[in-house]
Formats: sequence, C-alpha cells, structure tokens
Amino acid sequence: MRFRTRLMITSVTIVILPLVMTLIAFLLIGRVLVFGNRAFTLGQTFDYKMVADMGSTFQTMTDEIFERVMDDMKETPDILEHRDYLDSISEEINFKTSFVLVRKDNEIFYVSDEEYEDEIFDILPPYEDAENAISNIYYTSTGQLLRQMDFKFQDDSKGSLFIITSVKTFVSSKMWIYMIIAMIIILLLTSIMMTNWIKKTIMKPVDDLNIAMQHIKEGNFDYVLPIDLDEKGEIGELYRSYDDMRLRLKESAEEKIEREHQNKELISNISHDLKTPITAIKGYSQGLIEGIADSPEKREKYIRTIFNKANDMDNLINELTLYSSIDNNRIPYNFQKINVATYFGDCIEEIGMDLDSKNIQLNYSNLTTPDTIIVADAEQLKRVINNIVSNSVKYLGREDGTGVIDIRLLDELDSIRVEIEDNGIGIAQKDIQNIFDRFYRTDLSRNTKKGGSGIGLSIVKKIIEDHGGYIWATSHEGEGTCMHFVLRKYADDPEKPETDTVAQEA
Ligand code: ADP
Repeated sequence: MRFRTRLMITSVTIVILPLVMTLIAFLLIGRVLVFGNRAFTLGQTFDYKMVADMGSTFQTMTDEIFERVMDDMKETPDILEHRDYLDSISEEINFKTSFVLVRKDNEIFYVSDEEYEDEIFDILPPYEDAENAISNIYYTSTGQLLRQMDFKFQDDSKGSLFIITSVKTFVSSKMWIYMIIAMIIILLLTSIMMTNWIKKTIMKPVDDLNIAMQHIKEGNFDYVLPIDLDEKGEIGELYRSYDDMRLRLKESAEEKIEREHQNKELISNISHDLKTPITAIKGYSQGLIEGIADSPEKREKYIRTIFNKANDMDNLINELTLYSSIDNNRIPYNFQKINVATYFGDCIEEIGMDLDSKNIQLNYSNLTTPDTIIVADAEQLKRVINNIVSNSVKYLGREDGTGVIDIRLLDELDSIRVEIEDNGIGIAQKDIQNIFDRFYRTDLSRNTKKGGSGIGLSIVKKIIEDHGGYIWATSHEGEGTCMHFVLRKYADDPEKPETDTVAQEA
C-alpha cells in the first residue's frame, strides 16, 4: 500500500472511527441510563430523544397528559380535586425523579413526592389568569423541568397542576460523565490502533531495512530481507531497491575479488613470460661474451635469437599496453566505411604470405556481394584478424605441413559473418565460454608453453563489441577451432556522415 493511501486511511480513520464509536457509545449509554434508572418509562417505548432532547420529550409527554386531563375535566370538572385521580396521573408518569404537584391558591393541595416539596414550592411560577392555561416548559434553578396547567377549583380558588421532573441530575450529568469516559477510551483505543498499524506497516519495515543496511555496511552482501519482495507501494519499492543494491554490491565485490585474482595471475604470467626470453637473452649474450659462439655463423645465430627474444618481449609489452588502454576505454577508434571485399582481399594477401612461410595452407572464400560495406576501424579490425589467425597458428600443433586455416565471409542480410577456422588442437568444451575472458588460458595452452598472456581474445572481443558486433567460438578438441564474428553492414542513410570518428577517451 502506498504512503499516500496509508495517510488517507489514517486521517479518515482518526475522524470516522471515534465518531462512529461515540455514536454507538451514546446509544448504549443512553439506553442503559434511561432503562437502568427507569427515568422514563412512559409509553414503554424507548426514544433516544429522551436522552438527546429532554425538553421536547418532556413537552410531548406533558402535552399528552394535560390534554387528557382537560378532556377529563370537561366530563368531571372537579376531577383534579380527587386524590385518587392525581395518584393515577403520578403513577402513570412513573418517573423515578418526576412527580405531580397541585397548588391551591398558595398552598400545596397535592404532591406525589414529598421529598422535593420544600425546595420547589417557593419557585413555582404564579397562577396565570387564563383558565386552563398551559405554560411552556420551565427549567428551574434546582435543575428540574417543570410544566404547569392552571384551572379553577370548584370553590373558585386558583389551582395549578405541575408536572416536575428532575432530568439534569438523573440523565444529563451522568450522561456527560459516561460520554467523556467513553470518548477518552475511544480516543485511546483509536490512537493505540493507529499507532500499532503505522508501527507495523512503516516502522517495522524501516527497522528491517536498517538492520539490512548494517549488514551491507559490514560487508555482508548475503543478508536477505526477511520479507515479501512483492509487497506493493513505497516500502515494496524500497525492499526491491535494497535487494538490487545488495546484488549489485555483491556482484561488484565478487568482480573485485576476481579482478584482484586475475591481476595476481597476470603479474605471475608476465613474470613468467618475460623471464623466458630474458633467460634466453642472458644465456646467448653470455655465450657471445665468453666466446662460446666462436664462428661467425654461430655469432649470427646467437644475435638473431637475442633479437627474436627481444621482439617477443616487445610484443608482450605492446599487448599489455594495448590491454591497459582498452580496459580503460582509451582506444581512439577511427571508424570508416570499408569495402569488405577489398579490405579482406588485402588482408588475405598479407596473411597468406606469412602462412605460406610457415607451411600452413590458407583457404579464403567470400560469399558477400562485392559492394558490401561495413563501418569499422581498419587498423583495429586487422588486429582482430591477426590475433585470431596467430592463435590458430600458435595452437595448430601440426608441424608436418597439414595445417589449414579457412577464412570465410558470409552474408547475413544486415550483417556479415566472418569465420576463421583451423584444424588445430581445439579447445575443450569447458573452456569455450571463458577464452574471451581476460588472462584466461586453457590448461592445454599452459602445458604446451605456447600460450601468451591470455589477453589476445579479450582485446578481440572488446574491439568487436565496440564495433557493435559480437564474437563466439566453436571447437572440438583435436579437430580444430572456428572463431565467428558478426559485423553490421553499412546501411545507406543519407543523414549519416560519411566518416565517423569515435575517440573513446576515458
Ligand atoms: P593467449 O595469449 O594465451 O593465446 P588468447 O586470449 O589469445 O590468449 O587466447 C586464450 C586461450 O584460448 C588460449 O590460451 C588458448 O588456450 C585458447 N585458444 C585461442 N585460440 C585458439 C585456437 N585457435 N585453438 C586452440 N586454442 C585456442
């Protein structure tokens, strides 16, 4: 649930719930008070008006009685002088705190409850002139509701019939106290309920996240939040963000460890790869110094070996330098439109001569149309081809002249596919996925001592990907390896500039 909805529910509940509960409390307390004290039992029907509006209830009730008395007086004019009739009225109203009083001139003629007689008598309103005058309701200083009906006794003395009820003391004040208590309880309950709800739905998740963050701070990226990640709303988003962050941090921590491991391996590889030519150079130069190479042919052979070994070292150092630039995205690409047939034709000519000298057969086929154009950096693409071909040569394992390298160009609608296949030692299936990783060398290449640094193919992959293409390898151990890479064809887009130079400076 979103915070906004939660806040809306909270504000509505804070208002509505106490209101509803107060209403219920009012109805219940009213009923209990009215029935419990039998304050009003007239007519036996319970009416909340008795609680809510005492005045009008009292008025209706007294209206009824007075009307009946007036009717009775028409039949029996001295009816109000009969005590048993007055008793019947007082019995009928049957208020616990109500009573009937009849005043004759200035004296009490009848009172149904003597308890209130003294306190009320002095404040009774005077006789109205009009005969049978029915007054409005009086609210007396003693907290009673009073209604009066004037009439004439048979002896012509002034008579007043009073119906008096003490509501305030009985219902109103108790009602107030009970209602205040009920409202305090209701407000407390609402507040406890809302606090608990907010605690459960907001504070708890925040606490959970806090604990999770502590784990992250301590480098524990395996701590999984003990909650439902599908939860909706902001809290759910926070949970998911936390989990994404945790997984990314975990990944980058693992990558860091892997990189550190690779760097250590690289240093040990470089030391090893540099040590081999250096040992040779040291050995041959010592041979020269000590005069072991005593003939001009031997001396030339020694010097040539020193030169070749120095070249090997140079190549390795160049590869490392390139790798370091490529890793930091610092290769300045010079993308140009290149005609595939012409470009590969020239390449094959160059490679062919080299392979020829090594007694390796080269087959070339181009199935793309002669006008196929790609956008590429000619120099970097050559590096890719040379690297793959030199790997094929390196891992051919055929000194008997049966080594064959096939280079094929295939047309794939929007792109061209280049396949460079050899019939060399091949790559084990378990290694195929990893040969494009930095510094990865198969066991086979390590054991044959032919391998380089394990950098070559990672550079190749990076260059192909920077060209918007992709590369993969297929191989069978003992049968050979095929490198495939795909490059997008140039689509003739008039809005695109002819030459596109992208320099990737970090
Ligand atoms: P290296 O400098 O070791 O050749 P690369 O990155 O060029 O590094 O190649 C990674 C590994 O892939 C090599 O060590 C080798 O084991 C394997 N490999 C690459 N090309 C071939 C191939 N044509 N035949 C057999 N193995 C190959």
